[in-house]
Amino acid sequence: MILTDKEEYKRLRDEVRRFNLRELAPRAAQCDEQEAFPLDVLKRAADLGYVGPHLPEQYGGMSDYYAKAVVYEENCRVSFGYNLSLNASDLLFANNVARHGNEEQKQRYLPGIIKGTKLGCWALTEPDAGSDALSITTTWKKDGSMYLINGRKTFITNAPIADYFIVIARKPGSIKAEGGCAFILERGMQGLSTGTPFKKLGGRCSPTGEIVLEDVRVSEDQLLGKEGSGFKDMFASLDVERAYTPLSSIGIAQACLDEAAAYAKQRKQFGSAIAEFQLIQEKLAVMASKLEVARHYVYHLIELMVQGKRITREAAIAKLFASDMVNRAAREAIQIMGGYGYMREYNVERYFRDAKLLEIGAGTSEIQKLIIARELLK
Ligand SMILES: Cc1cc2nc3c(=O)[nH]c(=O)nc-3n(C[C@H](O)[C@H](O)[C@H](O)COP(=O)(O)OP(=O)(O)OC[C@H]3O[C@@H](n4cnc5c(N)ncnc54)[C@H](O)[C@@H]3O)c2cc1C
Repeated sequence: MILTDKEEYKRLRDEVRRFNLRELAPRAAQCDEQEAFPLDVLKRAADLGYVGPHLPEQYGGMSDYYAKAVVYEENCRVSFGYNLSLNASDLLFANNVARHGNEEQKQRYLPGIIKGTKLGCWALTEPDAGSDALSITTTWKKDGSMYLINGRKTFITNAPIADYFIVIARKPGSIKAEGGCAFILERGMQGLSTGTPFKKLGGRCSPTGEIVLEDVRVSEDQLLGKEGSGFKDMFASLDVERAYTPLSSIGIAQACLDEAAAYAKQRKQFGSAIAEFQLIQEKLAVMASKLEVARHYVYHLIELMVQGKRITREAAIAKLFASDMVNRAAREAIQIMGGYGYMREYNVERYFRDAKLLEIGAGTSEIQKLIIARELLK
């Protein structure tokens, strides 16, 4: 039995599902169309404890990584874009503060994120540094007791609307994983500006954009972790983030299966429901099989992560398999629904667009293959 099948998590799953069907589902297509993030839904979700359940109890969380997994999957079943932004805030930003921050930083930044009144983001990617993360050129240097940060980040989830930013920078002249620092910055700090949201294929209610850093001067209070340990801390946190990413694939694939199966039962052609045609049944059976295999592996991965095991290889396997699975599932869901599936009126068109990011974000599929092979051959 996977741990989240326990009674308490089943109850949580039902509650989140009901909340999402009531609050999020009726707005999901419109938020996607208008490229608008539903901040009010996030606030109501936070009131029920659905934001940052994995974060420490003393700052308002529940210290429960399994609850985070259940909420994550259920959110993606309804709106991948909503979860993308929520996750950038309560995992990419807040989990890093919880893991590497000092007491003052935790008290300052975590409660607002957990209450849903503040939004965070995490910025590594730059115009010339994507998969090759260690080639970033955003720099920090000491100016007396202060730090001076300069550079440009791109493709950053929540950048256009975030209150708080974690920015990864390097010491000028440092190479590879040396000289990295993570800084916690706040909107309104002099020299920090963000661009307008990019137009994109999927996850459209989640604003993605640039951060420009021009002589941003901060004190040591804004340094996250130790000076020089920025890349080491980042790689340690990335495994946790990668353990959750495949749950996006599980949530979207479940939605594809639910909607395609329901449609197949009611759509009639050649005098019978298309669900009676074996070629349609084959598609549904393959979708369901791959989804179940992926779900079990991903929850196994979450358990390993909670136990503190090293999960670099397992997280890469889960991400690679689940992202391929969901892209196939979304394609098949549209195929089952024919021309109707291709129309915006039906959700599967959105799921199809959303699924693509899962082969790109948080490390592309090619990079996951390289990680798996490296782990295998070492
Ligand atoms: C919607 C969205 C939200 C995002 N949110 C964030 C965020 O919040 N924070 C953040 O820091 N970043 C974020 N990103 C950035 C994301 O992590 C990068 O897009 C991703 O890591 C890939 O980098 P790239 O786009 O520069 O592609 P590139 O690295 O330029 O890759 C281009 C192609 O080359 C392939 N490739 C690269 N290197 C190799 C290799 N060694 N061998 C084989 N093939 C290779 C890639 O797999 C890919 O197919 C986001 C991106 C998107 C699209």
